[in-house]
Amino acid sequence: MADKLSAVKGMNDILPPDSARWEWVEGKVRALMARYAYRNIRTPIVEPTALFVRGLGEVTDIVEKEMYSFEDSMNGDRLTLRPEATAGIVRAMVEHNALYNGPLRIWTIGPMFRHERPQKGRYRQFHQLDVEALDYAGPDVDAELILMCRALWRDLGLAEGSDVRLEINSLGQADERQAHRAALIAHFEAHADQLDEDARRRLHSNPLRILDSKNPAMQALVEAAPRLMDFLGEASLAHFGAVREVLDAAGLAYRVNPRLVRGMDYYNLTVFEWVTDRLGSQGTVCGGGRYDGLIEQLGGKPAPAVGWGLGLERLMLLLEAAGIGAPADAPDAYAVVPDAQARLPAMAAIEALRAAGVSVAMHAGGGSMKSQFKKADASGARFALVFGADELAAGEVTVKSLRDGSGAQQRRPLAAPAEWAATLQSQA
Ligand code: ATP
Ligand code: MG
Repeated sequence: MADKLSAVKGMNDILPPDSARWEWVEGKVRALMARYAYRNIRTPIVEPTALFVRGLGEVTDIVEKEMYSFEDSMNGDRLTLRPEATAGIVRAMVEHNALYNGPLRIWTIGPMFRHERPQKGRYRQFHQLDVEALDYAGPDVDAELILMCRALWRDLGLAEGSDVRLEINSLGQADERQAHRAALIAHFEAHADQLDEDARRRLHSNPLRILDSKNPAMQALVEAAPRLMDFLGEASLAHFGAVREVLDAAGLAYRVNPRLVRGMDYYNLTVFEWVTDRLGSQGTVCGGGRYDGLIEQLGGKPAPAVGWGLGLERLMLLLEAAGIGAPADAPDAYAVVPDAQARLPAMAAIEALRAAGVSVAMHAGGGSMKSQFKKADASGARFALVFGADELAAGEVTVKSLRDGSGAQQRRPLAAPAEWAATLQSQA
């Protein structure tokens, strides 16, 4: 036998039955987006490296050490597997002049790539649901995006408080961050001996990023750092206040976390994260914020924007931890075809049932009636359709109930499957 090959470390296969949870969540997401009138967009997984360097900022974890970048061996172009969705979406909007006819509210789902140390909730290929509102200045849209997350938790059966909590902050505007930055550098310089290597390197290039440090040894120093909130002017505070007002009116509890800075440089004003205590140190399920400068920075006409990204692997782990299972991905019916003679009429009837919306797993590959019934049982189907010789001679099929313990069975006419198809479908 040839050697087996393995997937790339940190990149996962999603197989049945786990994939049922993914499909269930994706279905909920699609319905949610339709209710909020957000439209779908799909952009390439590979983008020019320069897009992320320019968009995310040179001194960020992602650009410094997490990107899968490579040279196109055909033409030498510098390319990167997208580590996040926003930069590519903005690139597409600018390239296609998509905001020409007015603002856009859009969403996408897909794989992202970051070269991190794989662990529970942290992978090298992972998936994000990403939602963006482009050319909206807020603060109403900022709040709408946050409320949309809450609606998703509710649709999935997750509880605010015990499963997910909201943290918000304001990063103000560039000049406010500049004043804060000077105070921050002074604070960290005064305690230079306590800085780790990352922090020392970032002290003068991007000190705000030090606040995002995950090093436990740095937490006390970070905690004591000057707060950006204290440097915000009237307009920034008013924006933040207006977002909070909507959340308060909607009865949504949150914590203002002055240390919440997010991992990309493009954010300003509103930033937020939905966190959970159920996933250890990979506790951020969803994060987002406003990025009013990014569209212009990537060559577009200046336009404000706001969005969020949600890690689907972490959401799946959270659902599992909260004991929320997807509905079983069992077919409505399993077709038992004991007689080779029955194949043609059976397959014609099965096709007709499927066309009428019934989910039918067809037994394939022969075997005794008994072994086929075993498979029917294992499939989780609620009914067995028995295409036996007796039935066929009478122009009928036996429908046998498999799940309610009654074992009840009925003969149905083969000629008109659409007339009784509905009796096979679950009420859900
Ligand atoms: P973290 O602080 O956990 O590294 P992040 O701030 O880098 O997260 P974002 O860039 O904001 O994450 O991405 C949005 C969401 O995508 C995160 O909240 C998380 O749920 C998910 N995510 C980010 N990186 C990974 C990863 N390597 N594996 C799985 N999910 C991830
Ligand atoms: Mg990260």
